[in-house]
Amino acid sequence: MTDSSISSITRRQFISIAAAATAAAALPAGDFALGQSSTDAVPQAASSHAGLDPDWTDAGIIATRNSPYAKLKSVPVRAVTITPGFWSKRRQTNVESSIPSMRVELIDHGRMDNFLRLEGKSAAPQRGPVYSDSDIYKWVEAVGFALQSGPLPELRAPTEEMIRQVVAAQEPSGYLNTYYVESRQSDRMLAKTQTTGHELYCIGHLLQGGIAYYRATGDPTLLDAGVRFVDNFLLPGYGPAANQGPIVAGHPEIEMSLIELYRTTGNKRYLDLAGYILQGDPRIPLLERQIVYMFCGVPFTSRTKLEGHAVRAMYACCGATDYYLETGDPAYWKTLNRLWDDLSEHQLYVTGGVGARSDGEAFGNAYELPNERAYGESCAAIGNMMWNWRMLSASGEAKFTDVMERALYNGINSGMSLDGKLYCYRNPLAYDPSSGDKIRNPWYDTTCCPPNLERTFASLPGYFYSTSPEGVYVHFYDNSEMHWQLENGAKLTLTQTTQYPWEGTVHLAVTPASPEEFTLFVRIPGWSKRNTVKVNGREVAGIMPGQYLPLKRKWSAGDAVELTFDMEPQALHANLAVTDDRGRIAFQRGPIVYCMEQLDQAVAATDTEGFPRYTAQLAGTKATPYQPALLEGVVVLEHPGAWLPPEQSALYQAALPSRQAAHETTLRLIPYYAWSNRQPSAMQVWIPYRQA
Ligand SMILES: [Zn+2]
Repeated sequence: MTDSSISSITRRQFISIAAAATAAAALPAGDFALGQSSTDAVPQAASSHAGLDPDWTDAGIIATRNSPYAKLKSVPVRAVTITPGFWSKRRQTNVESSIPSMRVELIDHGRMDNFLRLEGKSAAPQRGPVYSDSDIYKWVEAVGFALQSGPLPELRAPTEEMIRQVVAAQEPSGYLNTYYVESRQSDRMLAKTQTTGHELYCIGHLLQGGIAYYRATGDPTLLDAGVRFVDNFLLPGYGPAANQGPIVAGHPEIEMSLIELYRTTGNKRYLDLAGYILQGDPRIPLLERQIVYMFCGVPFTSRTKLEGHAVRAMYACCGATDYYLETGDPAYWKTLNRLWDDLSEHQLYVTGGVGARSDGEAFGNAYELPNERAYGESCAAIGNMMWNWRMLSASGEAKFTDVMERALYNGINSGMSLDGKLYCYRNPLAYDPSSGDKIRNPWYDTTCCPPNLERTFASLPGYFYSTSPEGVYVHFYDNSEMHWQLENGAKLTLTQTTQYPWEGTVHLAVTPASPEEFTLFVRIPGWSKRNTVKVNGREVAGIMPGQYLPLKRKWSAGDAVELTFDMEPQALHANLAVTDDRGRIAFQRGPIVYCMEQLDQAVAATDTEGFPRYTAQLAGTKATPYQPALLEGVVVLEHPGAWLPPEQSALYQAALPSRQAAHETTLRLIPYYAWSNRQPSAMQVWIPYRQA
């Protein structure tokens, strides 16, 4: 998180989500502007508030319901229930273990004392980096999304206490930040502070947290604090007018949150300010290295490649796509697609992670994708998924969903331990325990990743479906039920029954309230080469991998779709320009990318110095039966390979055909997301291959 060449900048984090039906029925009547926690208030239509989206309780992860350039409209988190299967355990762990234990960590590390001190309720000094407030806001957002799937009173009560303590620290001017106070007050919103101080970054997370909590509970207390900051402090003081000060995001985040605030309130000034920030303020002169690193400060539409700090770049792309969804500005769409091509052609790890370099937590050059040194910050993978969600919303194209799925199942899912209490900041694709690098930790002083992972898993149901005027899109596969409606208002239930991602068959029960003609768009994953789709037992033609298959008909209760995807294990090789992967292969089955851990291999660990001594044949992978007791339930891959014993020879020698004996062995591979959940062990995703 640091870049000494700029200053002690760096930060990261991420997104949000949706609401509980019961909470939605208890909408507060309170004024949006100065809310109390009024969850007991009499239900009253929010449309009585000027400009407030009357359908706000039906908002999805991002509320694209009224976005004119969103081809797909979001489905609320609360409309989708993920039933026992692959993601349910993760989400249960998230709510029962991760979110509560992270609250304790946040409090133990002074994150709430920072607020309480300003209220005279704590004598503790300020603790943590400049962006410490955002840790609390992102955690509240995780709770907000969790509450959209159920009431969780044990989480709600302490969260409301924290929200009250946060809001009590807000100054009458609307300013709210626990770092730029007292002796640092004179630094507020200086150009230098804006580039490195994360004031607007923190407020962006406050807004996202406040919106998620509001959509879950109807309680606008935190959201109102964000509105007061923007209305009373930010908008009057900063912007393009001669009597306003200049503005730069520093760490992009405020852009997408201002646009979500616009979606929540209808106040176009928020959208306009986001657009101005995306354009860059020429009154703040920036060095070239700052423009690269911060991914802001000059017109977004002047960008030609992904570069600089990866989380900053991903969040900037999120904000720019949100801006496109509201304005339809073709220059933005052109730039976004150019950047996406750079992502998918040059910058994306096979795990869906992004940001190759530790130095500056940055994108590398094209094809610069080291494995052991990979940075692949959890927040960057999350930012990647958030951005692709927005690109999908704009286009309806499945190539964006493919990237989301790759990131979600692999480079994001790896970021949290199976017990939910340890987190990765880095997500390398190879690991040597003798490096002493501790990959999974309960706490980081820059603790952006843990609450980011928590909000992502809490929001997951909101990513499963979208609607369009033609019908409904199915993006993700897992046991689940959707109770929602078509855009014409017709009620619809979709029920998935599957062992995905371990098996490739998905049963989809389509249950409209009454017979209805519409199109069911089912996603055919790009990795699935051979597929069958049956509607009521009859096979459908025209299936294309990496596209949505439109199934248009008059649907009636009892209709059933059966999808069967290609679960043959696949050996992948990378473009030869990726020097670290040259001569190596990686393994994928379904959406799951695999890795080798030393401790699973037949050759005793003491005999080896790690993975360079293993080689894999090019073909012959077998998937073993699902093992419920291993790593909370996985399918292991077995692959023919060999192990080369240590060589007693000079560092350099004549190049002759090797006479070294290779011992045949069977390589055992586990899902990458589950690595480092047992004792420390060497790990690699890309394995050297040799012709059999
Ligand atoms: Zn992070």
